[in-house]
Amino acid sequence: MPTQILTILNRPSLDAPAHVEAAPAFHFADATLPQLTVMDLGATRGDGIFETISVNGGHPQALEHHLSRFAESARKLELPAPDLDVWRAAILATIAQLDPGPEAFVKTVLTRGFEGGVRPTGWAYGAHSPDFSDARTTGIRVVLLDRGYRHDIEQTSPWLLAGAKTLSYAINRAAAREAARRGADDVVFVSSDGIVLEGPTSTVVYRRGEWLLSPGTGLGILDGTTQANVFRYAESLGLQTAFELTTPDLLRAADAAWLVSSVRLAAPVREIDGEPFPVDADLTAAINDYLLALTD
Ligand code: PLP
Repeated sequence: MPTQILTILNRPSLDAPAHVEAAPAFHFADATLPQLTVMDLGATRGDGIFETISVNGGHPQALEHHLSRFAESARKLELPAPDLDVWRAAILATIAQLDPGPEAFVKTVLTRGFEGGVRPTGWAYGAHSPDFSDARTTGIRVVLLDRGYRHDIEQTSPWLLAGAKTLSYAINRAAAREAARRGADDVVFVSSDGIVLEGPTSTVVYRRGEWLLSPGTGLGILDGTTQANVFRYAESLGLQTAFELTTPDLLRAADAAWLVSSVRLAAPVREIDGEPFPVDADLTAAINDYLLALTD
């Protein structure tokens, strides 16, 4: 069985014309061959959205949360609304075609389509995940980097699309390179008015005593699916959970912190801006075991 699968959606959005309605909702394609036109606005402008879904033992994680966030990103970009039934079926079909393995992922992409055209482009790509055991156990060194906008950007400037999962990740990749230049593995973005936001591909979660905390939504950051599951697990352990407006000083004073995301899962922070930071190895292992055992 193959180790990568590409599924192209013939009907990615709810407004498909009648003749498309009659066609199969999706078809498989060769992931090693070019499939996208050079005129696709996803490629030429980064004008589109995506999700990356963990697959553990053949089960997609937080599928409904990912689908609702996908639809919300489409709404923010004024893209045609994705047909979530078709996307769900395409994701499950992609997983079913993948060579079984312990950890995999499916990435879904919806773009504004061919420049000058009227239909969006959509595909799901599934593959095995890289090995993140080192990040999950040894931990990661992070640097705090200025995101260059205030924490209320979502309310003041919705056209900047903060909080939507757009394809325009050049800034997120540049921040990761800046981290590497500073001898770190990852980044925590801070707003220009001093509020902790998120990582370039992850949500910040931290523990203070019996509380597990996270910056929360409405700050121009993503509504994390992994953070939601980590909170659910923490509550089952009897920890309290809450969102709080976090400053770098509050984060530095925490008992432990993680960058959590699909695929890499919970990576404990072991250094902030070159200063050693405590790792809660037991809670980290328990969180990752919980996330890896989830079946939906
Ligand atoms: N924030 C950003 C900017 C991300 O790109 C991601 C995931 O890719 C996350 C947070 C974490 O989201 P999730 O836990 O749903 O993967």
